[in-house]
Amino acid sequence: MSSVMSGFIERENPALFSEIVGSVAAASPEAVDKVVRWADAEQRIWATRPLPDRLVALTRASAAIENAIEDLAELLARESGKVLGDCRGEIGFAVRYLRWVVEHATMAYADREVDDELGRIVEQRRPFGVVAAITPWNAPIILSMLKIAPALAAGNAIVVKPSPLAPLTIDRIAGLFDAPIRVVHGGTETGAALVGHELVRKVAFTGGAAGGRAVAALAGDRLTPTVMELGGNDPAVFLDDAPFAGDAMDRLVMASFATSGQVCMAAKRLYVPLARLDEFVSAYRSAAGRVLKTGHPLSAGVTMGPVISAAAQRAARALIPPDAVLLGAFDADPSTGYFVHPALVVAPDPSSPVVVEEQFAPVVPVLGYESEEQVLTWANAGDLGLGASVWSADEERAFAFARRFEAGFTFVNTHNRTGMSLRAPFGGVKRSGWGREYAGEGLAEYVQTCVIHAPAAFRPGAVAPSGGPSAYPPG
Ligand code: NAD
Repeated sequence: MSSVMSGFIERENPALFSEIVGSVAAASPEAVDKVVRWADAEQRIWATRPLPDRLVALTRASAAIENAIEDLAELLARESGKVLGDCRGEIGFAVRYLRWVVEHATMAYADREVDDELGRIVEQRRPFGVVAAITPWNAPIILSMLKIAPALAAGNAIVVKPSPLAPLTIDRIAGLFDAPIRVVHGGTETGAALVGHELVRKVAFTGGAAGGRAVAALAGDRLTPTVMELGGNDPAVFLDDAPFAGDAMDRLVMASFATSGQVCMAAKRLYVPLARLDEFVSAYRSAAGRVLKTGHPLSAGVTMGPVISAAAQRAARALIPPDAVLLGAFDADPSTGYFVHPALVVAPDPSSPVVVEEQFAPVVPVLGYESEEQVLTWANAGDLGLGASVWSADEERAFAFARRFEAGFTFVNTHNRTGMSLRAPFGGVKRSGWGREYAGEGLAEYVQTCVIHAPAAFRPGAVAPSGGPSAYPPG
């Protein structure tokens, strides 16, 4: 756990819980108020700086983060239990995303003007003011950067409230910006003080349904617009022609077990043709033997670390039945860190918790299906519709199947992690989210469009329209 001790949050290392990695000051509601008022004043100055100047500041921040990447990655590994390579990957991805925003901000945020026979119209892209970002612990850098980069580029100030389970690295990264950004630390009380603040004009939340519901209600009370990115219970469906090839299986295993399965878009339910279930289990087990090694996140060759907390360790163990297939190499001591042996649960009851709920743990069910209609019904069941994947030797068939998934983002022949393009917006359907991150849609979340319009008929020197001043429609 992370603990709050006399105004400080101490963060332990989940791989070695006797080690305190660091601590940060917890923000009281009064401290949050001070920070938001500071951000509001700074935002007014920041928004008057020309867009190219703001982008120069963001480019400098990207270089500063990149220069510090080794130290930052190690800190992230120690506070979150994610393996070092994944931490490096996450921070590197955040730097790439920040640069992508710089590259696309001019097009996204420039005013647009038309002056023609209908009149003159200026569409102005205006920042909201102070943005509140509430973020989870499982990918604290990229999930914060998806909000920080577009919010600042658009001329907003931003106050980030990370999870108390991973507060340290994002705190350090925020300090590398010469821009109106601050981090406030704490749990729900701090988050509520931030979201409900009268000067916060936009809320961007990533996390689970319960937190999302509470944050959306607080924001709704003030009519503050929100971006919500919630949980997922992603299905991965193998069509009957899909090869269980080595590299595909390797990708699939890591799509389920990277970050110990604690990824919103992890492959959380696997579906294969019933007649091929045994073949699949054997191929999957072999792949896990090649790519999955549980151990200390800083040790070479380790691909999976511990889960985040004692509660997460207990919850994960409760999902693993005695006959589960244990996977990969296990070189860890569960009595000194929150380690869980990764497991495949073969053919569980389709209504069991490991299938119908987001497990957020290194345990994955595989079920055999008899027809495409049946598997589609299973895959689309439930409230969450974040990601999905379909695997087939025939890309046309895969795309046709994918169109029937109720998911915000469907991968073909991979799942999450590998090869994701920044051009593609990301976000769920059903209750997994509203709002979008990445791509143009993610940029558009941080501005409001205001219009200045001089209709042609009423411009100086124009002839007034027949019908008088109430003539409607104007065109
Ligand atoms: P969480 O909802 O418990 O916490 C997320 C953030 O919200 C934290 O900063 C937390 O302190 C804050 N928070 C929670 N309740 C609050 C309240 N009542 N008032 C104000 N702030 C509150 O989520 P978590 O356990 O940190 O993360 C795991 C969940 O996040 C999973 O469901 C996962 O799928 C989801 N997730 C979604 C995405 C996505 O992009 N859709 C990405 C990563 C994680």
